[in-house]
Amino acid sequence: MSAHVIYARKSTESDARQVLSIDSQVQELKLLALRRGLEIHEIVTEAHSARAPGRPVFGALMKRIEKREIGAVLCWKMDRLARNHFDTGHVLQALADGKLARVITPEREYTADGNDRFLGNFELGIATKFIDDLRVNVKRGNRARFQRGWPNYRPPIGYLNDRATKTVGRDDERFPLVRRMWDELLSGAMNPMQIARAAGRWGLRTPKTRHLGGKPLSFQNVYRLFANPYYMGLIRLKNGESYKGAHQPMVTPAEFEDAQVLLGRPGRSHYVKHLHAYAGMLRCGLCGHTLVPEEHVKPSGKRFVYYRCRRRTDGRPCPNPGLPVVAFERQLEADLKRVTLPSAAVAWITDNIRAKCDATVALQAAQRGAWEQALTDSRRESDALLTLKLRDQVDDATFERRRITLLDQQARLRLRLEQPAPAPETLINRLQEVLNFSASLPQAFREGDTVRRRRIFHALCANPIVRDRKALYTAKEPFSFFEGQGTSRDWQTIVERLRTWLVERDFQIPAYSFDALDTVPRAQQVAQEGGCAGGGAPRANGPSGLPGTTAAARDAP
Ligand SMILES: [Zn+2]
Repeated sequence: MSAHVIYARKSTESDARQVLSIDSQVQELKLLALRRGLEIHEIVTEAHSARAPGRPVFGALMKRIEKREIGAVLCWKMDRLARNHFDTGHVLQALADGKLARVITPEREYTADGNDRFLGNFELGIATKFIDDLRVNVKRGNRARFQRGWPNYRPPIGYLNDRATKTVGRDDERFPLVRRMWDELLSGAMNPMQIARAAGRWGLRTPKTRHLGGKPLSFQNVYRLFANPYYMGLIRLKNGESYKGAHQPMVTPAEFEDAQVLLGRPGRSHYVKHLHAYAGMLRCGLCGHTLVPEEHVKPSGKRFVYYRCRRRTDGRPCPNPGLPVVAFERQLEADLKRVTLPSAAVAWITDNIRAKCDATVALQAAQRGAWEQALTDSRRESDALLTLKLRDQVDDATFERRRITLLDQQARLRLRLEQPAPAPETLINRLQEVLNFSASLPQAFREGDTVRRRRIFHALCANPIVRDRKALYTAKEPFSFFEGQGTSRDWQTIVERLRTWLVERDFQIPAYSFDALDTVPRAQQVAQEGGCAGGGAPRANGPSGLPGTTAAARDAP
């Protein structure tokens, strides 16, 4: 039986002008073989120009073709195989003589049968199909480019295209400033509007192009920026496909997810305007619908915010009464006190957790092994899925949905595997942050603005539902560990539970820090950051510039 061989070639001279590397050609051709149900027996490659005869690997291939050892050759384009009259004639003659049954490229198949058509196509090919090929090549080249981790669009602010290497690099001028924007958001220190203003003051401007650029970021730019997964290292295409980028990520996946929740768009990447602290986070205890904030203004001018279920069943509104935000925040504040550690506990736990951490870090290697296994499994499933598709055992919609899910899963696992293992010292610092965060909770909440209150609620409360003007939720880990702590025997339990929690979280602890806020008094902070939304020029003196003093007013800046 005659063999199927992949032949891939890349010229040595014109490296810069060629889109696809040998590896990419081979990958495309393997996919083609899989699609056609062909078994590949051998892959031969060569880096050699085909402008003149005398390529060694090609020569050896032709010798075996003469001996009728090879049934079909797969190549990326006809011109990979032959580019001079001698070699072209050699290949065509082998086809005509039946020594070689087929030459298969992604576009078409060349056989002895369609000789006339083939010759015509081939002769015209170089000249007239050049433009068509260019278009197809761009598409194919793009996929190869994504697989290598580079986008085919201009990267977002903080990154720059490197034209010479066709890769994306850090924009050293803007990268640190954009990272600072993320820091401000994640710390809860500023809301996106304040961040947009602050970035302007730090001197952040969009890169200059011929007609555009050189401008500060608008609010919309800032919202869109925080929704762009490119910053955590993912290339997301419009059709939903994700690829792991080869660029240096600016934020970790955990930070990115945190930001989405903070901005009220978990799992969504479109812009949701959020003026109310708990929008999208509370569910109706009767029907499960998401509660919607409603604002009422009394004739006196006083504003009240309610969270209400708008679900209608058979034309009748849901009977669950609205929850006034003032009552909700009163309840929340009382609950926060229950998970707040006294300073004596913070000190004792800090002293006793170090030894536990050191021993625990050793376990991390095992965790990484599990991720690698998951990645292998996911890749195997991708292959299996493709096989099902080729056998017509799965419909297009299901195939596409599953394919995209798997791609996403693989990209995320690769990202996780790339997260550096945190040093014990870092872990201890992070745990310290958790403890300090807990200790500062009631005050941080009382003095916080919309974004910070939302962040605290998100960090602490799991599965909140609302029924009869009361919110029901459970405390999230690790704060649930702190509930009802009393004696030092309980503190010992907290240390042990924190250790277990670290392992369960894969040692990735989100940042729980209000450092910026705890060192700068709130009034000064507001003045420094440009005052509250909608205000005029901020005054840098005195605490009079504080935003609304009632909880309800603060909820809607
Ligand atoms: Zn309801």
